[in-house]
Amino acid sequence: MSRFATGVVVLTVGGEDIHGMTANAFSSVSLDPPLVLCCVAHSAVMHQAVSSAGHFAVSVLGADQEQQARHFADKQRPLGQAQFESVRTRPGTRTGAPLLVGALGWLECELTESYRAGDHSIFVGTVLDSRRGPGQDALLFFEGSFRPGACEPRKTS
Ligand SMILES: Cc1cc2nc3c(=O)[nH]c(=O)nc-3n(C[C@H](O)[C@H](O)[C@H](O)COP(=O)(O)OP(=O)(O)OC[C@H]3O[C@@H](n4cnc5c(N)ncnc54)[C@H](O)[C@@H]3O)c2cc1C
Repeated sequence: MSRFATGVVVLTVGGEDIHGMTANAFSSVSLDPPLVLCCVAHSAVMHQAVSSAGHFAVSVLGADQEQQARHFADKQRPLGQAQFESVRTRPGTRTGAPLLVGALGWLECELTESYRAGDHSIFVGTVLDSRRGPGQDALLFFEGSFRPGACEPRKTS
C-alpha cells in the first residue's frame, strides 16, 4: 500500500468526545446520496469517539499542513480539547466538530453505517455540508513520507 499515493486528512469529532486523528484511509463512496468512508483502527481512541458521537468531520490537508498531520498521528499528544490548543480550528456548523483552519476543504458527516473489517472499522458518513478553502497544493503521503503536491491551476479555454 505504500506504493499507493494518497491525500491526508484529519478526522475530528466534537462535543463530549472531542478528538482528532490523522488518516489516509478516506474515500468518496456515492454521489447520490453523498457518502464518504474512513477506516479507523479498533485500537484508536478515534474509533470510540466516532461510534459514540455519531458524526465526524474531515479536514483535507494542504501542502503546508504536515505539522498538523504529524501532531494528530502522535500518540504522545494530549487527549480531549488540549490536543487542539496548538492548532487553529473553527467549529463545524452542522456537527460542532473542529475544522482545521487553512485546510483545502472540509466535510461534515453523519455516521450512517459501520462495518467491522479486520482490525479496523469502515465508517460510512452521509455528507451534511462540504466547503472548499482557497489553497491549491495538497499534502500527499507516499512511501511512508509526507510530500507536498503542487497542482497547476486548471486551464479554461
Ligand atoms: C499519513 C498517516 C495516515 C494514517 N491513516 C490512518 C487511517 O486511515 N486510519 C487509522 O486508524 N490510523 C491512521 N493513521 C494512524 C493514526 O493517525 C495514529 O495511530 C493516531 O495516533 C491514532 O489516533 P487516536 O488518537 O485515535 O488513538 P491513539 O493515538 O491510540 O491515542 C491518542 C491519545 O490518547 C491517549 N490514550 C489512548 N488510550 C488511552 C487511555 N485508555 N487512557 C488515557 N489516555 C489514552 C494516547 O496516549 C494519546 O495521547 C495514520 C497515520 C499517518 C501518519
